Amino acid sequence: MRAVVFKDFDSIELDDVPKPRIEEPGDALVRVTITAICGSDLHVVHGRIPGMSPGGVLGHEFVGVVEAVDGGVRRFAEGERVVGSFTIPCGECWYCARRFFSRCPDQRVFGYGSFFGDVAGAQAEYVRVPNADLVLHAIDDSMRDEQALFAGDIFTTGYDCATEARIEQGDVVTVVGCGPVGLMAILGARAFEPSTIYAVDTVSQRLEMAQSLGAIPVDAKEVHVPSFVQDHTGGRGADAVLECVGSVPALLECIDIARAGGRISVIGVHSDQEIELPLNTTFVKAIDLKFCGTANVIGRWDDALAMVSSGVARPDAIISHRMKLDDAVLGYDLFERREALKVVLTP
Ligand SMILES: [Zn+2]
Ligand SMILES: [Zn+2]
Repeated sequence: MRAVVFKDFDSIELDDVPKPRIEEPGDALVRVTITAICGSDLHVVHGRIPGMSPGGVLGHEFVGVVEAVDGGVRRFAEGERVVGSFTIPCGECWYCARRFFSRCPDQRVFGYGSFFGDVAGAQAEYVRVPNADLVLHAIDDSMRDEQALFAGDIFTTGYDCATEARIEQGDVVTVVGCGPVGLMAILGARAFEPSTIYAVDTVSQRLEMAQSLGAIPVDAKEVHVPSFVQDHTGGRGADAVLECVGSVPALLECIDIARAGGRISVIGVHSDQEIELPLNTTFVKAIDLKFCGTANVIGRWDDALAMVSSGVARPDAIISHRMKLDDAVLGYDLFERREALKVVLTP
């Protein structure tokens, strides 16, 4: 079958690889109908997530049709349409028993290499899905593939960030960073009916998309963001700030954007070991700083999919490029250069 394959650092190609088959109890085999390129796929390609071997299949965002199941699979049968979670929790540990799947110490990730369980990715014609009863979610007939796709990763990740910020009706929210996850955090935040969502970025295409999703765009090249938010909140600052960048300057700016007693929810991926935190400011402002870690997709995707089916959220609006799987190398290139906001591939 055709698949997007890791060759070496900074190098991928389309290749023919053996079609996967059922290997473990609880496995399903899914025929992929659409798959997407995620920002973290780039981390794998560039070796920032180490452990990928040459020949490994990339990708972890997918929708498809169940082709076969192991006898231990109870919730799914051949022919059902499904969306997959990007992570594969064990389903049995202390955390999984409490539906805190994202903290499962044994969780695996599709297409992430040996440190994440060496499970082949989904940018392919077929994908083997371990623990299918947990890792797959059925899709309503009324929902198109593209509408369901992001529930398995970026939309539910954005919604997780918004949920952890404990946004209340009428709040002023600021979303810092309008990449795909930040844009999804805007949609997630809207579920809690804030009065205003300010969306901060410097890329005009992203700010335009943020505006079309219901946020007020704030170009960080043109204004001092903390002052801007204070000017529009009677000098207070934002009630809730969603950090969707994963950089030290962005995190520090969030502390300045939040009002006293405000909440910061961090979904941006941080890899720095240490930073200088302005402890006195953080203490005096009584900032509530919450790190989300990897999002609890399986714990929250029922809610996320309900928002899509009721029409409250349209996450597929951010798809900028639809391409054949065979053109994935070009898709990665466009995404890397930020010419594509979100690339969807069809095998
Ligand atoms: Zn992802
Ligand atoms: Zn577990």
